[in-house]
Parts: sequence; C-alpha cells; structure tokens
Amino acid sequence: MAQVAISSVAKAFGTVKVLHEVSVDIADGQFVVLVGPSGCGKSTLLRMVAGLETVSGGTISIGDRVVNNLPPAKRDIAMVFQNYALYPHKTVEQNMAFALKLRGTDAAVVAERVKRAADILDLAPYLKRYPRQLSGGQRQRVAMGRAIVRNPQVFLFDEPLSNLDAKLRVQMRTEIKELHQRLKTTTIYVTHDQIEAMTMADKIVVMRDGRIEQVGAPLELFDRPANLFVAGFIGSPS
Ligand code: ADP
Ligand code: MG
Repeated sequence: MAQVAISSVAKAFGTVKVLHEVSVDIADGQFVVLVGPSGCGKSTLLRMVAGLETVSGGTISIGDRVVNNLPPAKRDIAMVFQNYALYPHKTVEQNMAFALKLRGTDAAVVAERVKRAADILDLAPYLKRYPRQLSGGQRQRVAMGRAIVRNPQVFLFDEPLSNLDAKLRVQMRTEIKELHQRLKTTTIYVTHDQIEAMTMADKIVVMRDGRIEQVGAPLELFDRPANLFVAGFIGSPS
C-alpha cells in the first residue's frame, strides 16, 4: 500500500481549464471519496492518477515515486469503472486472470490469486459462468475481482455503483467498505452521490468547477461546512 500525493495539479483540455491547482493528500490505507456535481472534474482527476490523462501542471506521487510520466501499467494501481467492461466471451475466472496473464504472471500464482479474490468476493460458485449469466451485483464483484488479483498499491473507483438499482447500491457500498477493511488498500473513490460519500469515506474531498471546496471527515463536513455550497450539497437528499 502507499500514500498518494496530488500537489497543485491542473488540467486543461485545449484552452479550457477543468482543474485548477488541486491538492489532496491520501494517507496509506485511507479511503478517500471525491464528491461533487457532474462535470466538476472528478473523473479527470482520477484518470490523471491512473495515468489515463496527462497532467497539465503539478505533480502526482504514489508511494515515493512521482508518477507524472509513468504509463498506467507501471503505476501499481487498479481502476474499477462504472460500466464494468467485462469481456463477454470470457468466463468469470478468465476475466479475473486476464490482466495477470498479459503481464506474464506465473500460472500457479494467477490461479492462487483468482481463488483468493473469488473467496473474498463470494464468487467461487460462479467462476465458470459468463458475464451475461450474472446479476448486476455479481458483475460488479467480478470487476472488483479483476482489480484485487493484481494486488495493487492503490484502488481507484469511478462511480462504480451508478448502474445498479438503489437496493443493490446500498448493499455494494457495504461490500466495498468490508473489502477495504479487509485489504486496507489505499482507495480513491469518485461519486456524485453525497450519501455514498458520507457513508463510505474516511475523508471527503468536495469539488466544484475544478476546485476543491472543502476536505474533511464526513462528520466535520456535516457539522462545519465551509460554505453554502458544501452545506447545500452535503445536506441535500440524493
Ligand atoms: P465529472 O467526472 O466530475 O463529472 P469530468 O472530469 O468528466 O467531470 O469532466 C470535467 C470537465 O472536463 C467537464 O467540463 C468535461 O466536459 C471536460 N472534459 C472531460 N474530458 C474531456 C476531454 N477528453 N476533452 C475535453 N473536455 C473534457
Ligand atoms: Mg465522472
């Protein structure tokens, strides 16, 4: 596991600035939630940590390495997306093993890691099934399984629950938190849902229009919102 330091990071697409000197420190093992309205720059920031977007200014470090110029595969992160992007023609087992095999991981190690992830995520009975034969929650677990088998230093989640129905969303929140309590992997979790943020985060980063409005523990934000925007956003029903 590792700490992540986002220091004065900026992003422009052409002449349009979408992030303005954003700084966030994420401690080793911490579960940090980036929350804010659609379009405020959450995914862009997460994608820069993942190496899927270049950084226009500032530095991002993972552990003791500045990663600005490292490709995604060298960053020791694993990302889980909203559309799980499972391979439809591969079984659950093959979906989880694929990224490891691509990296040339020893077959016995792959088998052992897939088994462990399947046990953690209650997927053992479904290993031979195809994604179309799974429920939405099971598919989301396979997507998490693909991240877990890589033993990354950092998990990155981009609105992983927004395609699920309300009941399943509540259940998966609990599952992701339990997973974090078990593995203690440093996590950056993006959502536009303030309830999700309040129930899951060790620390919340509230964003608006490419800037950070406030950083704090859930209760701190609730008790002492820095401004009307944070108060309105945290206090409004989802
Ligand atoms: P969020 O995830 O908070 O909804 P995004 O990070 O996706 O926000 O987007 C932040 C802003 O950057 C938005 O105005 C969006 O339109 C813009 N944006 C995102 N990706 C690109 C891109 N590849 N090219 C141009 N503009 C982009
Ligand atoms: Mg987004």
